[in-house]
Amino acid sequence: MRPLTEQDIRNSFINCSKGEAKRLAIPRDLGERPWDDLDFLGWRDPGAPDRSYLVAERADRLVGVALRFPSSQRGFLHRSMCTLCLTTHPGSGVSLMTARKAGAAGREGNSVGVYMCTDLACSLYVRGKKVPEAGGRFHESLTLDEQITRTVGNLSAFLDKLEG
Ligand SMILES: [Zn+2]
Repeated sequence: MRPLTEQDIRNSFINCSKGEAKRLAIPRDLGERPWDDLDFLGWRDPGAPDRSYLVAERADRLVGVALRFPSSQRGFLHRSMCTLCLTTHPGSGVSLMTARKAGAAGREGNSVGVYMCTDLACSLYVRGKKVPEAGGRFHESLTLDEQITRTVGNLSAFLDKLEG
């Protein structure tokens, strides 16, 4: 994806208020992120351990999503698979994250859940640039490009549910 600026990121959020988008913690290392290897930018909020965020490119626009995960859930699952990149992690490596839906549906309290890599590094796992601690990835007959396309497709389906 193309490198993003703090302003790009703050302007992209679809499921939180303008005030929240203005205040939320943006990574300080945007200049060093491996943008060429990212299908989306994902990060944890260092000041709020139950929050994380992701920003993806959709057609010609950016879509930012605020995610939450209850800390009580972490470490509950023995071994589980990220539904976006299909990487398997032990323990708390995969979390059920929930995102409020965009617009009126979200204001009414509707949210969508997704099991995904707790560190939001799906793009790097798919490309073999990051290796899960004791989990792994299935040996795949798909090419890297096909696996990337699948990950982006899975993410896109999640974003469709949020915006739908
Ligand atoms: Zn993943």
